[in-house]
Amino acid sequence: MAGIIKTLTIKREGKHFYAVFTCEIGKPEPLPTSYEDVGIDLGVTHFAALSNGEFIDHHRSFRKAEKKLAKAQQALSRKKRGSHRRKKAVQRVANCHRKIANQRKDFQHKASRKLINRYQVMVFEDLKTANLTKRPKPKQDQETGAYLPNGASAKAGLNKSILDAGWSTFTEMVSVKAAWAGRMVIFVDPSKTSQICPNCGTMRKKTLDERWHSCACGCELDRDTASAKVILDLGHKQLAVGTRPTSATA
Ligand SMILES: [Zn+2]
Repeated sequence: MAGIIKTLTIKREGKHFYAVFTCEIGKPEPLPTSYEDVGIDLGVTHFAALSNGEFIDHHRSFRKAEKKLAKAQQALSRKKRGSHRRKKAVQRVANCHRKIANQRKDFQHKASRKLINRYQVMVFEDLKTANLTKRPKPKQDQETGAYLPNGASAKAGLNKSILDAGWSTFTEMVSVKAAWAGRMVIFVDPSKTSQICPNCGTMRKKTLDERWHSCACGCELDRDTASAKVILDLGHKQLAVGTRPTSATA
């Protein structure tokens, strides 16, 4: 913890209590200018695909925790309403969610730090305007507050609704860290990023399970890498061209 403590809140989640401190930290600490920019496609197969062809993968323990959650949810569905056992089962589901949330937060802090340290400009899709076929809305269970699996999650083998909840937190983390470090975050319109060829600009719709970008122009790329490149291009277009030196890695 750094800085002067301003407020202290005690938060309760089930049986667990948390002390939440808000601190005022000194001055921003700008990092030296980097000449590398990056487009970032957040997804299911990989946590993120970068425009330079690199991937950030999901935390390994994430899948394990998810299996546990699925089991706990299944056990809960078999318990009688109003019973003591059901209460316990609800608790177990809540515990799983808490653990996953903590793991995710830790992973995202580390991943966002790495991006900030390396890149000057980071371009994401603006998820607020993301189309719903690409990212279906998670359904929430009335009783446990748990996210129920939806169609897309079954397909991807990962609980997509959990990931959905994580993406906006992640871009927020990157934005906050960027502000402190003197880096830049840009959000672009996501509506066609998976359809445009990053090499020649041709548009072609891909089906959801089409994992490879293959264009008549000869461009052959992982689908998400191709999207990340388009995202970077859109970001650069959004920046006033020529106002700063840039050497993109795309
Ligand atoms: Zn092409």
